[in-house]
Amino acid sequence: MKQTVQLARIQEKMRPGIITRDGFIGTDRRNLIDILVEDDATVKRMDLTHDIIARRMIDLRDAGLGGLGNFISVTPHFEVRVDSVRGKLPCPFGDPGIFPKTNTTVNNLKTGQTITFTDLHIHMIGSHGFYEGKGSSFRLEPAELVSILEIEKPHD
Ligand SMILES: [Zn+2]
Repeated sequence: MKQTVQLARIQEKMRPGIITRDGFIGTDRRNLIDILVEDDATVKRMDLTHDIIARRMIDLRDAGLGGLGNFISVTPHFEVRVDSVRGKLPCPFGDPGIFPKTNTTVNNLKTGQTITFTDLHIHMIGSHGFYEGKGSSFRLEPAELVSILEIEKPHD
């Protein structure tokens, strides 16, 4: 798909050493538009939205805040730890707002799987549908998030 000038500028800011040391793309050679389109299709195939995924991440982070840096149990079978690291990061998409470097680690005790994400991840997923490039050490695979965090479409 054709990349817009605006997305090309955003992708420049995602290179290593601009906002973060490692950047947001890793070894992914694709244009940002293609990364976004593929992950969007993956999420739609699971009958979910980026917003539903981000909300679940927020709920688990908020539940973990009470642990004050230690793991605490969250029903039904999670352990969540929220570590606050000094410093804040802007979003590479250029919208206003700056995000604390908070790491949330979720252990799913039923499956034995663990995942760690930041407040910037939550924002980039919820607002931009961006999970980072493949080959970025901080990429979150949408299917892994959904499986480990047990995300389901809300019933209406
Ligand atoms: Zn943003």
